[in-house]
Amino acid sequence: MRIANLDNRAVLVVGAGTGAERAVDIATVSDGRFGPNISAVFDAWAEVTEWAAKQDLRALADDGVDIDRRLLGAPSPAPRQVFAVGLNYHDHAAESGFESPTNLPPVFTKYASSFTGPDSEVTIPAGGNVDWEVELVAVIGRESSQIDESDAWSHVAGLTVGQDISERVSQLRGPAPQFGLGKSFAGFSPQGPWLVTPDEFANPDDLELGCVIDGEEVQKGRTRDLIFPVSKLIAALSRTVTLYPGDVIFTGTPAGVGVGRDPQRFLQAGEQLDSWIDGIGELRQRFVADSNE
Ligand code: ZN
Repeated sequence: MRIANLDNRAVLVVGAGTGAERAVDIATVSDGRFGPNISAVFDAWAEVTEWAAKQDLRALADDGVDIDRRLLGAPSPAPRQVFAVGLNYHDHAAESGFESPTNLPPVFTKYASSFTGPDSEVTIPAGGNVDWEVELVAVIGRESSQIDESDAWSHVAGLTVGQDISERVSQLRGPAPQFGLGKSFAGFSPQGPWLVTPDEFANPDDLELGCVIDGEEVQKGRTRDLIFPVSKLIAALSRTVTLYPGDVIFTGTPAGVGVGRDPQRFLQAGEQLDSWIDGIGELRQRFVADSNE
C-alpha cells in the first residue's frame, strides 16, 4: 500500500510508478471511519491497514483524482517526535572524519517546521554552506517501547524518501555541534512523495538510494550498508523513548556529501537537487538565494 498526504488529506495512491498516479481519499471511501488527515490515519494504523487490504484499489481508482505533486505534503507532517541518525554508513563516517559507531550512532532531531512535501524551493540562508544528505525515512505505525529487534519491522507504517538538508556553518560552528538547528532551516526536511508499506518491497533492508545535482550523480548507496539498519535503530531508540504512531526516523546518509569532498562543495542558487529511493519515488528541490542577502 502507498499512502500520501495530499492537500492535508490522507489518500491511497493507486498506479504508483506509472507516472499517472491517482489519489483515493481515505475519509471518503471509508465513509468517514478514517482520516480525514494523515495523522488521524497513523493513530488508527492497524485498523486502516486491515481495512485497506479488503479494498479493490483498481475499482476505487475510478473515483480518484490525478495527483498534483505540488499539493503533496510530508507523509507524516506533524510527528510527535523526529529522530535523525548520524554516521550510519561506514563510508559516510569515514568521509566525515569519524570512526564508525559501534554502540549507538549519534541521534539528533530535525524540527518539524522544516518539513515539506517532495517538490519545493529551498532558500539558501545568507552566508550558509548548504549540503545534501539523501536518506531513507521510516514512519512508525504503533505506540510502544522496549521493542525487540526481531519484531521491529512490524512497528513501521512505511518508508519514504527524505533529504536531511544541512547548513554546515551553523552546524559546526561550536563550541559543540549544533545539529538540530543547523538542519532545520525552512524547507530543510523535504519528504515523500508518499509512504510505502514494508510489504511492498522484495527486501525493505536493501534499497538503492541516491541524489543528483543538475543531473550529476553525487550520492548513490544501498540501505543494506546501514551500520544500524531500521530494525536495530527502532530497537535501540525504544530502549530509551516511547515511539508513537507518525514518529519520523531519518536513518542516515551514505557517502558523497559536499562537506566531505576535496574541495568542499555546497548547493548554489539555481541548482536543482533530485533525490530518489528505488521502489518509493523522487524528491525535487530547487535552491534560491536569500532575497535579504
Ligand atoms: Zn543526515
